[in-house]
Amino acid sequence: KQVINLTDIVKNYKVGTQVVRALRSVSLQINEGEYVAIMGASGSGKSTLMNIIGCLDTPTSGRYILNSHDASDLTDDQLAEIRNREIGFVFQTFNLLPRSTALDNVMLPLVYSGIKKQERTERAMEILTNVGLAERVDHKPNELSGGQRQRVAVARALINKPAILLADEPTGNLDSKISEEIMQLFAEIHQQGNTLIVVTHEEDIALHAHRIIRLKDGQVESDEINPNPVI
Ligand code: ADP
Ligand code: ADP
Repeated sequence: KQVINLTDIVKNYKVGTQVVRALRSVSLQINEGEYVAIMGASGSGKSTLMNIIGCLDTPTSGRYILNSHDASDLTDDQLAEIRNREIGFVFQTFNLLPRSTALDNVMLPLVYSGIKKQERTERAMEILTNVGLAERVDHKPNELSGGQRQRVAVARALINKPAILLADEPTGNLDSKISEEIMQLFAEIHQQGNTLIVVTHEEDIALHAHRIIRLKDGQVESDEINPNPVI
């Protein structure tokens, strides 16, 4: 089943009288259960592509189908709705609520879902246990290590059972040992059947993915299966 279908995606930014061509006709398809890394040098268009895939922005032209929804040309409200339903985000900077416990951070996406508090708590406990944080659910972000904070962020991203987990430089703020642990967690999440997209400029991180897409000057330079993903 296809989760992402991008066809001839163009994104231009106007800067004064100049037009920056950030994406110049990008087409790609990603199926359910794939683990994809998107690589490229600074300025190659990674963030722009991630923003479009994550329904944070719309393309200048082209067609984007996300999990059978046409997300090419939506209003901001429509974009927010599809984003909340279909995408789990993980960021370099974790983006956790500082005054809330790990449990409350993870439960937050469920607050508007109509699910009762007891079930919300049970689901959050289960997913925090899955990411190895059963003993830390009552801790606030400043009482957790960087790696533990990112685990909370991963748990929060997954709690709505999103169509895709979209991670932007997920290990950018972590040392190499902790980065490896987070990539192990991603491998487990992939094995559980989730669709993962990791945007990174780090080769070591990309080599964990099963498919590596490289961008250059706003175009797909290469799109290859990784024959030996790092585990
Ligand atoms: P990457 O994430 O690979 O560094 P970006 O998608 O951020 O690449 O940038 C692609 C190109 O678009 C670059 O030339 C960048 O300067 C430009 N760009 C990105 N965002 C904006 C913006 N909001 N306004 C104008 N130009 C932008
Ligand atoms: P990253 O590659 O780490 O995701 P950004 O997306 O913040 O970094 O920026 C990538 C490039 O896009 C940088 O060269 C930056 O100067 C440029 N850029 C980002 N936002 C804008 C903007 N609003 N106007 C012009 N250039 C931008």
